[in-house]
Amino acid sequence: MQPKRLTLLGSTGSVGEQSLSVAEAFPERYRVVALAAGRRIEKLAEQVRRFRPEFVSVAEAAGARELRERLGPDAPEIATGDAGLDAAAAHPADLVVSGLVGAVGLAPTLTAIRAGRDVALANKEVLVTAGALVLREVRAHGVTLLPVDSEHSAIFQCLAGQRLEDVAKLILTASGGPFRTWDPGRIARATVKEALNHPNWDMGPKITIDSATLMNKGLEVIEARWLFDLGPERVEVVVHPQSIVHSLVEFVDGSVLAQLGLPDMRVPIAVALAHPERLPLELPRLDLAALGQLDFEAPDTKRFPCLELAFAALRADEAAPAVLNAANEVSVAAFLDGRLAFPEIAAANAAVLDAHARKVGATALRDLDDVAEADRWARAQANEWLAGAGGVAS
Ligand code: MG
Repeated sequence: MQPKRLTLLGSTGSVGEQSLSVAEAFPERYRVVALAAGRRIEKLAEQVRRFRPEFVSVAEAAGARELRERLGPDAPEIATGDAGLDAAAAHPADLVVSGLVGAVGLAPTLTAIRAGRDVALANKEVLVTAGALVLREVRAHGVTLLPVDSEHSAIFQCLAGQRLEDVAKLILTASGGPFRTWDPGRIARATVKEALNHPNWDMGPKITIDSATLMNKGLEVIEARWLFDLGPERVEVVVHPQSIVHSLVEFVDGSVLAQLGLPDMRVPIAVALAHPERLPLELPRLDLAALGQLDFEAPDTKRFPCLELAFAALRADEAAPAVLNAANEVSVAAFLDGRLAFPEIAAANAAVLDAHARKVGATALRDLDDVAEADRWARAQANEWLAGAGGVAS
């Protein structure tokens, strides 16, 4: 058996590192051929020594120089900037792990798709900001998108061997975040520190705030709509505080399939890397008897209006999810800076989405320029809202 050739976009990030640790445990199955990272040169140098890729890309020329110095005569081909990222995405490989964080991941992910590579997708922004566009390219090039997010991996696993027309609905689980049991008055006064205190997953500050507002689940609803090509009326969310059931699929006969496991990102990463096989991971196993019970409740969209905004964006037009995402990045940054109260994150997002609905003009996403324009417009609107709301908008 030939090893699967892997390219990692965002190799020094959390998904990149965990993907490499999974690949490293099965050296006969994987060969890492290309790595793309930003500015963590020391970590990247260590990865290059461990995995000996053919091609490496970094953000800046200074980083490339440092990497060459660190690696000496053993350095592989090193490229820089957007062109380097693109070249890494197009480098001959069997699977590209799209693990960059933020908007920077969109263009190289499209490049990988257009080069005919299957993509293990961890970058949220790709489908949230450009789902309609990405779906058209995936179809045109006949590639497979393998989800890395735990919820989407669960749905992907439940759908294996099933027909899409037999699906009644996708049910995404949400932990409910740190304010799940809080009353509205207490949520209104929530501090940054309280919002950053996530019960089950250890993640970066932006996504942790998104978990507290349930915007993260909203963004995952948007991803699911494009990943599985089902309308928003067939996507639902249920709160499940233990994060053991990672998501479920209900079929037309009323059967519901679920995927369960301890919360560990290495499992969905391994599912994506090994598809259609599975890897014998040595991780702690789920002990249902020890767990005793699993709880579920409906999400409260009054206390957490961001979730409903995601459904509204999907019902609106192709550009609306990109608008919502950009507005949310601005409002979450303002909350983290102490410029906005917690409930105002949702208020700012709603105001920008409303303004988008009233705006006349193109709402389809024909290319990356349309995505960038929706993003730029929404950021300007959000900053205007912040200034008007009495916040000190920068
Ligand atoms: Mg998730």
